[in-house]
Amino acid sequence: MITPQLYLDPQEHRLDPLLRLGRKPRLLIVDDQPVNIQALYQVFAADHQVFMATSGPQALGLCRDQRPDLVLLDIQMPGMDGFEVCRQIKADAALQDLPVVFVTAHNEPLVETQGLEIGAVDFISKPFNPAVVRARVKTHLTLKLQGDLLRQMVFIDGLTGVYNRRFFDERLALEFQRAKRNRSMLSLMVVDVDYFKRYNDHYGHLAGDEALRAVAATLRGQLKRPGDLLSRYGGEEFACILPETDLAGALCLANEMEAAIRAAHIAHAKSDVCAQLTVSLGVASLCPQGNRLAEELIVAADQQLYLAKSKGRGRACGALL
Ligand code: GH3
Ligand code: MG
Ligand code: MG
Repeated sequence: MITPQLYLDPQEHRLDPLLRLGRKPRLLIVDDQPVNIQALYQVFAADHQVFMATSGPQALGLCRDQRPDLVLLDIQMPGMDGFEVCRQIKADAALQDLPVVFVTAHNEPLVETQGLEIGAVDFISKPFNPAVVRARVKTHLTLKLQGDLLRQMVFIDGLTGVYNRRFFDERLALEFQRAKRNRSMLSLMVVDVDYFKRYNDHYGHLAGDEALRAVAATLRGQLKRPGDLLSRYGGEEFACILPETDLAGALCLANEMEAAIRAAHIAHAKSDVCAQLTVSLGVASLCPQGNRLAEELIVAADQQLYLAKSKGRGRACGALL
């Protein structure tokens, strides 16, 4: 789960992702000659976490396992050369935002153009000047981390830190298609806080915000599979996409979530359910076939939510479509 680390200086309105990173930037240095790695290592070791690779395959492995923020990549290497490593990085959805800076003994415009065309952000020629290399790497790291922050802001709900509605819509469409292809079950759960207007009226809007954060964290804590996704659907409503989950499994999770919210003991003096904050949940499951639509799941889960509300709230109801 991604958590936002946005920092806006109230005085300066500056976004400095390097300052707010909370860790050293991670740098991968790739060169088949250890002596070249050593030279770059000396430039960055003090204030970066440095990973090193002496071959293309080793570099790709480190990219996937260590998630560096930037790669300094030699072009000429035996076996897989730097161009091929760069191509594979840019072809991998999980790595394509990783900036690649080529370090090369060549000083030919043609080689440089080729490198930029396959997705590198910059070129540094050997022998290099340490101050220049540092400055360029700092620039590209800043851009990369700013991009990370923007990507987070686009998909994360600012109040609760869980995914937002935009991300939910995209993922539901994607999971619906995937379930169709694999002929697997897909479940959707909607969660609505009970008597939340009264909560705000009684405790104030700021306390209401705090309660929503606690609800989101508690719901998220109940997810078990990496594919499960919790998002804020709007207001005091959350939605959960559960791939490869049948109605029984989804209802089981819904009941666990309901119990976990009660167990969080968030006092709610004005609720008709009990003295604690509770949630109602609606679940719908289907195996997408033919011309079924993802919207059917949303409508059905909403209907089940209303059923749970009408039966007294603080409970889950579900339907198989
Ligand atoms: P029910 O049990 O039927 O769901 O009743 P309810 O009061 O929870 O439902 P209703 O839809 O009438 O009210 C939802 C309330 O949620 C009203 C709104 O002020 C509050 N709310 C929505 N978004 C936020 C938010 O971001 N922060 C806070 N503090 N309150 C919010
Ligand atoms: Mg509501
Ligand atoms: Mg409500």
